[in-house]
Amino acid sequence: MTETQQGVVLIEDEAMIRHYVAMALSASGFKVWESGTAAQGLLETVSRRPDLVVLDLGLPDRDGVDVIRELRNWSDIPILVLSVRTEEVQKVEALDAGADDYLTKPFGVPELQARIRAVLRRRTQHGGEGMPEEGVFEFGEIRVDRIHRRVTRGSEIIHLTPIEYQILTLLVANVGRVLTHRYILQKVWGPEYVERPHYLRVFMAGLRRKIEKNSSNPRHLMTETGIGYRLVRE
Ligand code: CA
Repeated sequence: MTETQQGVVLIEDEAMIRHYVAMALSASGFKVWESGTAAQGLLETVSRRPDLVVLDLGLPDRDGVDVIRELRNWSDIPILVLSVRTEEVQKVEALDAGADDYLTKPFGVPELQARIRAVLRRRTQHGGEGMPEEGVFEFGEIRVDRIHRRVTRGSEIIHLTPIEYQILTLLVANVGRVLTHRYILQKVWGPEYVERPHYLRVFMAGLRRKIEKNSSNPRHLMTETGIGYRLVRE
C-alpha cells in the first residue's frame, strides 16, 4: 500500500458479489481487505485503519446495522452499505445508525464508484458531519443564501416558510446524501415528531412546488422511496 493509496475494508458474505466489488475497487486504485463475516470485518477495520468500509447488511454472524453501531462507538469512518431491495427497514436503520450512504443490489460498477467518490469527498470537505463552509449554495437555477436567509431563482425571491427553509438548508448541508424521514423530522421538528413522516411529506410537496420547475418530476429534491430524501446538485 503506497502513501497515497486509499484502503477499503469490504464486508460481504456472498463470494460472487464480494469478488465483483473487490475487483471494481481495485480497478479504482483502492487497496481492498475482504471479509466474509462481521467479526472478521470488524477486526480488519480495527487493524487496517481503512479510509472506507463497504458493508453488506445481511451477514451470517451478525446484523449489519449492529456492525455500524459498534463501529460508530469508536470511529467516524465513512460506511457505504450494500443491501437488497427487500431490506427497506434495515436500510433506514443503517442510515439512522450512522451509515453514510447505501447501494441497492444489483448495482453497476460506475454507480459503486460514484457513490464511493461522493462519500469520500463529503468527508474531506466537511470533516465529517456539519455544514459546508460557504454561506451561498447553488443548484440548478436556485441560489440559497444562508447569510441573508434568502432563496432565489434568478432575480426572483422564493418565499419559503420557516419549516421549508429549515428542510432545504438541512438538505443543502448534506448535499448528495440521503437523509431519513426520522433524521429530518428530528432535526426540523424535534425528537417527539420522529414517527410522523406525513408532516414531512406535506412540507416537501410544498417545497418542491416552489423549488422545482416541474414538481411532479423533480430533478433536485429527490425521494428515496421508503427511506427519505436527497438533494441532488446536478
Ligand atoms: Ca449477504
